[in-house]
Amino acid sequence: MIKIEDDNSNGALAASEGKFPVSGATFLPGATIGILGSGQLGRMSAMAAKSLGYRVVVFDEAVDGPACSCADLSITAPFNDLEALVRFAETVDVVTVEFENIPIRVLEFLETRAPARPSAAVVRICQDRVLEKEFLKDHGFPVAPFRVIASAEELGIGLADLNAPSILKTAALGYDGKGQISLKPGDDAGSAWKQLSAPRAVLEQRISFASEASVICARAPAGETLCFPVQANVHRNGILDVTTVPAALDPTVLLKAQEITSSIAEKLGVVGLITAEFFVMENGGLIVNELAPRPHNSGHHTLETTMTSQFTQHIRAVCGLPLGPVELRSPGVMVNLLGDLWQSCEPDWELLLREPGIFLHLYGKREAKAGRKMGHFTLISSQEGLLEAGKRAQELHELMNPGAQ
Ligand code: ADP
Ligand code: MG
Repeated sequence: MIKIEDDNSNGALAASEGKFPVSGATFLPGATIGILGSGQLGRMSAMAAKSLGYRVVVFDEAVDGPACSCADLSITAPFNDLEALVRFAETVDVVTVEFENIPIRVLEFLETRAPARPSAAVVRICQDRVLEKEFLKDHGFPVAPFRVIASAEELGIGLADLNAPSILKTAALGYDGKGQISLKPGDDAGSAWKQLSAPRAVLEQRISFASEASVICARAPAGETLCFPVQANVHRNGILDVTTVPAALDPTVLLKAQEITSSIAEKLGVVGLITAEFFVMENGGLIVNELAPRPHNSGHHTLETTMTSQFTQHIRAVCGLPLGPVELRSPGVMVNLLGDLWQSCEPDWELLLREPGIFLHLYGKREAKAGRKMGHFTLISSQEGLLEAGKRAQELHELMNPGAQ
């Protein structure tokens, strides 16, 4: 196998010099969209692309991911397999991602063959907590106090410096609360650093937030941005559990969260979607927690609640089509279905589906492991009934498999 290396010494890459020139190109239905990654975000993006009349090619290292059955073609190969990448590049008109942990050399290579939206430069920042935090801080966006850590010694100094309960997070490859350790001043830095087992990390102050929220913003190749309504998120064990839209926050806070997210999209120069996760303080202050340059779990409800779903918007932005309207069609509550729910028996789908206003999405994953995202459901409601709908959604979740909670 010819591999893409992490340094610049790879001769095979030299043959592909000559960066793709058309940065603002439009790709009309009938064109082929290449998606890196084959998880549920890729699956729902592929479905949106197919309904708009695009061809979809998925590339992933994992075999038979949820997106594969919804694509015209799936290529399964290591990301650094140059021959497979060339095959992928030759088949697609435009490249996008469904997760940010793509080796950056791979995106840089693909960018020489077709536009990558988001670009390698954007993904590079968003896949590395250190670069992401520094980008946010340098551009004046509010972030939790943090220190960049590369050794046990630096961790000891950082802990003393922050002098508050903190969270140590790996710079790369963390998700769903993985790669994080809770610490407090005086904790043993040596053993925490050993336990994290990562070359670089961010130590950030634990924030006593009142709630969490997120905003998904689309940015078109020509620079236009458009934010979805702000959504309120509740996490359980570091994994998103429930999202409610619209978030019950003061209108000035809602507007501020959208302004910050649009401004992040502009400063990054992203084409496609960018999601900003926020901590909302008691006084309405906002702190940006992290970014994702793609559709986001907290936006799944948009399949039913907004005029254009986040997946359709992703495809529209990536292809240079007009962005779709994002007004709410209906308030709603989204509940994640994790593998834990399959413990002891199959969840009671009939019970769930008998409920009016329920929309169920399952990702077709074969094995229901604890913590694995298997699907989600959204319960739509009136604005007045939203609190009740939240309670009912949680109740249904519990009733689907009472033994699993
Ligand atoms: P992931 O990439 O796993 O989503 P996050 O940094 O978003 O990582 O952390 C997951 C969740 O952990 C957050 O949504 C929040 O609930 C909690 N968390 C993360 N960082 C902090 C912090 N600095 N203060 C308080 N809670 C935090
Ligand atoms: Mg997060």
